[in-house]
Amino acid sequence: MDVEQFRKAGYAAIDRICDYFNSLEKLPVVSRVEPGYMKDLVPAEAPENGEDFDKIAEDYQKVIIPGLTRWQHPSFFAYFPTGCTFEGILADLYSSSVANPGFNWSASPACTELEVITMDWAAKMLGLSPEFYNSSEVGGGVVQTSASDSVLVAVVAARSRYQAAHPETKMEDLVIYATTQTHSLGAKAAVVLGLQIRTIEVEWKDSYCLRGDGLRAAFEADEKLGRKPFILIGTVGTTSSGAVDNISEIAQVLKEYPDVWLHIDAAWAGVALACPEYREALYLPQINEAATSFCTNFHKWGLVNFDFSAMWVRDRKLLTEALDVTPIFLRTKQGDEGTAIDYRNWHLGLGRKFRSIKLWFVLRSYGVTGFQNHIRKGIKLNKIFSDLVEKSEILSLVTEPSLALTVFRITPPNEENYTVAAVNQLNLHFHNTLSARDDIMLTKTDLNGRICIRLAVGSSRTEETHIRQAYETIEQVASASIQSWLQTHAN
Ligand SMILES: *Cc1c(COP(=O)(O)O)cnc(C)c1O
Repeated sequence: MDVEQFRKAGYAAIDRICDYFNSLEKLPVVSRVEPGYMKDLVPAEAPENGEDFDKIAEDYQKVIIPGLTRWQHPSFFAYFPTGCTFEGILADLYSSSVANPGFNWSASPACTELEVITMDWAAKMLGLSPEFYNSSEVGGGVVQTSASDSVLVAVVAARSRYQAAHPETKMEDLVIYATTQTHSLGAKAAVVLGLQIRTIEVEWKDSYCLRGDGLRAAFEADEKLGRKPFILIGTVGTTSSGAVDNISEIAQVLKEYPDVWLHIDAAWAGVALACPEYREALYLPQINEAATSFCTNFHKWGLVNFDFSAMWVRDRKLLTEALDVTPIFLRTKQGDEGTAIDYRNWHLGLGRKFRSIKLWFVLRSYGVTGFQNHIRKGIKLNKIFSDLVEKSEILSLVTEPSLALTVFRITPPNEENYTVAAVNQLNLHFHNTLSARDDIMLTKTDLNGRICIRLAVGSSRTEETHIRQAYETIEQVASASIQSWLQTHAN
């Protein structure tokens, strides 16, 4: 393809993308293809000779579009939202047009410098302490691929720090701390690094958050066994129910355990810190005081296209001392002199995408006010939904709604007469019936043995009408589920 062919195909691609967005609402949310559907549409071998691009682009439409789950659909309420803005799409296009592995400053000075500046923009927008700014030249922010990568980096750095302070420690005694509500990224980090993980039980009465007492009891029990806690993953906004660990009590306990690194996983909820009215409830002052590292994904609720996991550390040396492996061919004058950040020493890989253009475009085009409005809109829409659930006679909230997430379930009349298993069966049937539809998508979860349904708002295209329509559908399905369930459970 030459430049003029690219120009033509590029215009056509933008037209196709615009048509897709214009028709999005009429398309099903859930793809209806069966596993293996593509085998009949795409040959098993690459073509011997090059094909015409028009034909390739047409196949995108025929082969790919039917196999997509439409995360940008206004009636997508599953998992958490995935950011997708036209600004982000354009940024990806520009970024890929100057493809470069960006591992150090000289690999493309713009790549490093825009990340340094825009990560400070984001830190300021979220209200993080200036200690986390790149401009502090001590702490700093870096773009990671995912929250899982951010945790992996934090655990590796925390382990190095702990081992440097206690060289006699055996690897098998080191323990990662988390709770039963921590995202699987904690368990994954333990598997990848061959470390132990302790998941502390959390309770319904505490809204599934980690409290100081629970943490202290676990530390004390482990100390007696000679185990060494070296990192705690605190969650601000758990995946299951949006629970916020009590960072205030945790910080208090950690004062007695200064060797323990506090990583805050705020993958989903962290972007809500852009709105000052949520900062206290999300423990921003305590995070600013006590967190060693903090992570939030702008690619979830934060309008930036996947991938963009933002991670900040209070002391960049903790990362570079753990991760700097510098063979001679990677040494540069700027790196040696310390005049520029070498981001390759802040993450696991060497090469890295030029992702900061996405944040730059989004924050400039929306402004901080526009970003805040997007967050506030999600919370407001979720409130409409959770108010409807509260009024319902068959549905009930499982925990208080958290920001833009509601967790609910069917509660049958006289629930105390039924076993937990029977009520779980009812809720599973309810979710299965919802999942068989293609006009709405929600995910289920299990909170301490109870099956619940989650509704997560946050796509930039969701409006009040979609929320009310979703509630109507959900209530109808719930009503039918409970009818048939009552019949099978009648004496
Ligand atoms: C989504 C989510 C994650 C996982 O994020 P990745 O970026 O896909 O690794 C981790 N923690 C929480 C709280 C999440 O909501």
